Amino acid sequence: MATRLVTAGRDPFANHGVVNPPVYHASTIVYPTLAALEEADRTPFEGTRYGRRGTPTTFALEDAVTALEGGYRTIAVPSGLNAITTCLLAFLKQGDHLLIGDTVYAPTRRFCDVVLKGLGVTVTYVDPLADIAPLLRPETRVVFMESPGSLTYEIQDVAAAAAAARAAGAVSIIDNTWAAGLLFRPLEHGVDITIQAATKYIVGHSDAMLGTITTTEATFLRVKRASALLGVAVGPDDCYLALRGLRTLAPRLARHQDSALRIARWLEARPEVRAVLYPALPSFPGHDLWRRDFAGANGLLSVVLQTVEREALARMLDSLNLFALGYSWGGYESLVVPFDAAAVRTATRWTGGGPCLRLHVGLEDPDDLIADLAQGLERLG
Ligand SMILES: *Cc1c(COP(=O)(O)O)cnc(C)c1O
Repeated sequence: MATRLVTAGRDPFANHGVVNPPVYHASTIVYPTLAALEEADRTPFEGTRYGRRGTPTTFALEDAVTALEGGYRTIAVPSGLNAITTCLLAFLKQGDHLLIGDTVYAPTRRFCDVVLKGLGVTVTYVDPLADIAPLLRPETRVVFMESPGSLTYEIQDVAAAAAAARAAGAVSIIDNTWAAGLLFRPLEHGVDITIQAATKYIVGHSDAMLGTITTTEATFLRVKRASALLGVAVGPDDCYLALRGLRTLAPRLARHQDSALRIARWLEARPEVRAVLYPALPSFPGHDLWRRDFAGANGLLSVVLQTVEREALARMLDSLNLFALGYSWGGYESLVVPFDAAAVRTATRWTGGGPCLRLHVGLEDPDDLIADLAQGLERLG
């Protein structure tokens, strides 16, 4: 896979021998003859048609992500959230039913609660650890998963849920951002569509927003048409940055994992810490399922602290030098953000305690990161 990531979506000798695909800035595409224009109209979703439909830079990224995720084809979109909303709108209309994991990314939930419910779609949140088969209805059109779940990393039996969805005639969609397409390949487990916030590990440098949707052959046109109807378009410079990030995805992710596992083990032994949530830890509740399905872990881990006052927490977080306070993750740098695990679920209850911190372990020397966390934890009490 590391080799594939280096070679996919580029062809130097089609580009003057230049290693990287060029950045094409375009709106208008012109045709030499009426016959050529009519010929292009016969395949509206192929090749360059108009800037909004993509340029060779977009297609290079889409081909590279298809090589990463497997599947038929990929559609690049302007953000991870847009990948989710475009897919859901492609398959859901008034009267339809959506089954969705209770621990999905919070903005995914908000879209379902505000936009989909407003359009007359029925939305049911489900415990990601539960068997979904009994919850499927005749009008269930989509089963949406995110595994591991956001913030608390619940591991879902994706193959079982995808099989149940297929048997019921529903499309299964997964948010595969955590795995970056490298640690888990959902299409090989029967899922129909895998999406990523490429903003995270694919871009990898905290400097662009982008999403990807990779589909089976059977689902491609439906999603492609929806993205065209919705006017979804991506900028060529962002595609270029994503392609550049993609080349080093495998070694970056390996390093994120090594450092995160080391820090997770170190944190587990600290008296200020009640629990560390990291799928690669044997103590993690979903560890066995993670081992069955995943090729590794990333740089994300969550820490449940012993009860502390807000002021003590502020003293700790404000004192950190290498872990910057901020949302998002997947860049080369370390980040920390506090979260309320109970506030972002409705079908399950959070009983793990808190306050909780989500760490993104970056590419710094892990000894320096541990020293930063150690001086921070000292300030808690
Ligand atoms: C960040 C994130 C998204 C949204 O991606 P954006 O590019 O920020 O819109 C979706 N899903 C998961 C799991 C994420 O972490």
